[in-house]
Amino acid sequence: MVDRTDTTVRVVVVGSVNLDQVIEVAALPRPGETVTGGPVLRLGGGKGANQAVAAARLGGAVALIGAVGSDADSAALRAELAGEGVDVGRLAEVPGPPGHAVVLVDAGAENCIVVSPGANAAVGEAEVAAAREVLGAAAVVLAQLEVPMAAVLAAARSAGGTFVLNPAPVPVSVPGGAGGLPGELWGLVDVLVPNRTELEGLSPLDGSVGSVDEPVGPVNGLPTPELRRVAWQALALPCPRVVVTLGAEGVLVRDGSFVELVPAPKVAAVDTTGAGDTFCGALAVALAEGEPLAGAARFAVRAAALSVTRTGARTAMPTRAALGSAAP
Ligand code: ATP
Repeated sequence: MVDRTDTTVRVVVVGSVNLDQVIEVAALPRPGETVTGGPVLRLGGGKGANQAVAAARLGGAVALIGAVGSDADSAALRAELAGEGVDVGRLAEVPGPPGHAVVLVDAGAENCIVVSPGANAAVGEAEVAAAREVLGAAAVVLAQLEVPMAAVLAAARSAGGTFVLNPAPVPVSVPGGAGGLPGELWGLVDVLVPNRTELEGLSPLDGSVGSVDEPVGPVNGLPTPELRRVAWQALALPCPRVVVTLGAEGVLVRDGSFVELVPAPKVAAVDTTGAGDTFCGALAVALAEGEPLAGAARFAVRAAALSVTRTGARTAMPTRAALGSAAP
């Protein structure tokens, strides 16, 4: 059993920092329509920042590489991250505003989001190069795709330990790439963590493969044709270690030619916002602590399940203590 009291573990997150402005509306507006909503909630967001917070709450020593702007909002975002224990010493400051997300949420929790990248668009090879030392010393480097691909590639090249990619948002195909990612990046990713939609966008299999119900094969133990279809899609990726997040069903882990379902515990879910970010942060911490992939996925499934029992994204992210005493 891995000793999870080791606080020297290093996780470096390369990704976005956003100011989320959330407005509740009775119904989402149609094109051309104006609707009146509730008060504007201003919350720290961005997949990079959220995953860094999730990892820090779970006991990781976490540094965030990215960029904020030069205004008061940016200073507040930086201070909030520092207050969570995230090392923001390598978070660049560029002129202008930080990334913004305008989020409309209707009464049925359906949402509509517009992201303006702001300072996130300025994260490039230079910002990553300035952090080469910390990237080289990290046990795990975790990235998403809300910062430019050049930065993600540079981080992957500099990663001393395990490079984990959460391919969100999934990109459209690039020249010379496969499934939307540059060919070079596929060769550098140690663990890919897509959700089901991202897997659809990345896998060369469209899911209508005749082999879904083969009498023998690695997917045999999976209980439903749908899960076997997901497994074949994961097995077709040019990356041997894949964790597909499946909402309330849990995750499907592909390790080489082996696939395994890690079911989510049954919980009273009230808000799944940020479940994916909690999962990725937790997975990174457990991998950094030396847990094998399936064990790390089990730890992250417990953390994510706890997060959906509370409202909000960051507010719902569990601490290590909460996970220990209130394990689902
Ligand atoms: P989001 O974008 O909302 O953060 P996502 O699409 O990236 O989510 P999901 O697959 O919805 O990711 O959720 C991530 C993980 O969170 C799941 O694999 C699962 O472990 C956990 N999870 C999500 N919803 C539930 C639920 N209702 N009950 C238990 N666990 C859940």
